[in-house]
Amino acid sequence: MPVLREAIARHQRRFWGVEVDPDREVLVTAGATEALAATLLAFVDRGDEVVTLEPGYDSYGAIIALAGGRHVPVPLRAPHFQPDADEFRAAVTDRTRVILLNTPHNPTGAMLEPAFLDLAIELAHRHDAIVVTDEVYEHLVFDGRTHTPSAARPGASGRVVSISSAGKTFSTTGWKIGWLTAAPELRDAVLAVKQFLSYVNGAPFQPAIALGLDLPDTFYASTAATLQHKRDLLIDGLRAAGFGVSRPAGSYFVIADAAPLGHADAGAFCRRLPELAGVVGIPLTAFVHPDRRAPYASLVRFAFCKRVEVIEEATRRLGTMR
Ligand code: PMP
Repeated sequence: MPVLREAIARHQRRFWGVEVDPDREVLVTAGATEALAATLLAFVDRGDEVVTLEPGYDSYGAIIALAGGRHVPVPLRAPHFQPDADEFRAAVTDRTRVILLNTPHNPTGAMLEPAFLDLAIELAHRHDAIVVTDEVYEHLVFDGRTHTPSAARPGASGRVVSISSAGKTFSTTGWKIGWLTAAPELRDAVLAVKQFLSYVNGAPFQPAIALGLDLPDTFYASTAATLQHKRDLLIDGLRAAGFGVSRPAGSYFVIADAAPLGHADAGAFCRRLPELAGVVGIPLTAFVHPDRRAPYASLVRFAFCKRVEVIEEATRRLGTMR
């Protein structure tokens, strides 16, 4: 709906200083999930390579496989989960069609540095690839940081597809309102795929999200501040329970090491956790290809997009489980 496409264009200008034409450079999708799927199906042909960061959001591998592409992961290592520039350079070749990045990052909460995004865009130019950035956690960033959108970096024009969603910012995941912004020729290629995936989605929700995007800065600041408080509550509780925990820069996930508690296999630990403590965590290995899981074996992703009482109760239970 024009009202939402216009609000998305205003949002890109207001927060990121990026100008987009609401009629030619914006596409509303059924969540970021459809934006990702339609983008990969639009650009990836059989045998084309897609470079991603690993661990990574699980829909990436699935859609790359559906498109017939080859998945080329670049590892993110604990505790900082930042990609190594040389490993990334080596992964991008003339076979690369898409460089798919996610910042702030699910599952690790890491944020990519501007210099890394610049390198990705430079490599995309050199190898005639495109950069797709999944920025669904763009407003969920902590400790005074600001998100760096790839579209605002030098050389981005015509090379970058930016994907986001109302789901995280407004806690409306089930509404499935996402979007992408990109130069007209890129946007049109994705539109051609969306046409036959869903044609249209969430019409009654679209004007509501348009209103949300125009909310004052105080809304965005208080959303991040509330979540930051919950992050710190969860971290303190997990540490008190004996986990090793690193502090994420963004997203709503914390990575906890269960090894200090004697659980070297987080997969087995997470399967027992509902029974042991009535708490659910996801082993980080679920976000990693089976062949490369060893370095992540004892790590668990916990989410803090929960009420304060729920976080307190969960960490209390984890502290008394044994
Ligand atoms: N990308 C990432 C990194 C996510 O974590 C999620 C939600 N878990 C999505 C995309 C999907 O977003 P949506 O609900 O808008 O489809």
